[in-house]
Amino acid sequence: MNRRSDVVVIGGGIAGVSAAAEISETASVVLLEREPTLAYHTTGRSAALYFGSYGHPDTLPLTRRSMEWFEDPPNVDHPVLSPRGALTVVFSGDLPDLEGGVPITPKEAADRVPSLRAELLVGAVWEPDAADMDVAGIHQAYVRRLRSNGGTIVTSREVTSLTPDAPWQVSTPEGTWQADHVVNAAGAWGDEIARLAGLRPIGLVPKRRTAFMVTAPPDSERWPLVTDAGHNFYFKPDGIQLLCSPADETPSEPCDARPEDVDIAIAIERINDATSLQITSIRSSWAGLRTFAPDGSMVIGSDPDNETFHWLAGQGGTGIQTAPAAAKLLATTLTDASSTAAAPFDPARFR
Ligand SMILES: Cc1cc2nc3c(=O)[nH]c(=O)nc-3n(C[C@H](O)[C@H](O)[C@H](O)COP(=O)(O)OP(=O)(O)OC[C@H]3O[C@@H](n4cnc5c(N)ncnc54)[C@H](O)[C@@H]3O)c2cc1C
Repeated sequence: MNRRSDVVVIGGGIAGVSAAAEISETASVVLLEREPTLAYHTTGRSAALYFGSYGHPDTLPLTRRSMEWFEDPPNVDHPVLSPRGALTVVFSGDLPDLEGGVPITPKEAADRVPSLRAELLVGAVWEPDAADMDVAGIHQAYVRRLRSNGGTIVTSREVTSLTPDAPWQVSTPEGTWQADHVVNAAGAWGDEIARLAGLRPIGLVPKRRTAFMVTAPPDSERWPLVTDAGHNFYFKPDGIQLLCSPADETPSEPCDARPEDVDIAIAIERINDATSLQITSIRSSWAGLRTFAPDGSMVIGSDPDNETFHWLAGQGGTGIQTAPAAAKLLATTLTDASSTAAAPFDPARFR
């Protein structure tokens, strides 16, 4: 196994594989993932929605720019987006001004989702461009591209020590890799990787989000995602099931997140209050950690104290829909240290 490369990427979620694939166009890359399988953590636990108006204002352009890749993904023989639409329902106050959104009446909302209790609504915002993402297909597309460029993926390798000699010594219990650059795409563990490297943490906060499946009512396959303007719940069809969430954001240590019964109960109560669905039982549940920087935006670029250590962190709730554009930015700043393309996401803003 070749243990010397230009770049070592730590983390095999969507951030790690997309960055590794982009970088592999011009450099040799090794990706190290702690788990036996890639995408085991947050990437494998998402709601899989491309939602153009969702996320920190600075990241919305990344979502928009990623659309070009999603519409025509290289080396993928099937669409990775399928139409879904999103309905943001409003129970009181003004309708939010959402990019790409069209204000509609309570009746029009209930025409789209008959289970909604229209009498409770003051209106809704309809976003026709929201789409389901084939997350596994997107992730695999980047894995294929990385491998076809000669990149290496090694699973079951936990990085436990990082020594910033020239080159970096990236150590796991199974051996040490050497590289000129290190990319930190470790999701909830991003700050831990920085500490291993002797660098200051950003202050990343992983926040648990719960999701669960219930049996869908008849004729609901084409419903849009329904969320409320206060971000208290959402649900969307997923085959013969409805994927539901309380939209929780509970701070957590980095870990293999598990759902709490109380969060599921809260979601069921909120969704039952807003609809006639009368959910009484669930079919399955899970939770994942959405990791946020202190200002809620993303962290992309080299560390101010070591320009060969690169952050791709703080993806929050939009890490899949922003991945193509974020990975390109990271690769640009890694290969051209003078580039200002990623300036809004510069890790130096936290120092
Ligand atoms: C319920 C839920 C719904 C969501 N819905 C959406 C959505 O609809 N649309 C959207 O765009 N986003 C959504 N997200 C957010 C999205 O899933 C994340 O932003 C994204 O997956 C983050 O990817 P990542 O690669 O940074 O993290 P991860 O997928 O967690 O990958 C990090 C990897 O680093 C590895 N690692 C950590 N430490 C080490 C180490 N020391 N050595 C080696 N490897 C290490 C981990 O094992 C892990 O595999 C959702 C998230 C959740 C939980």
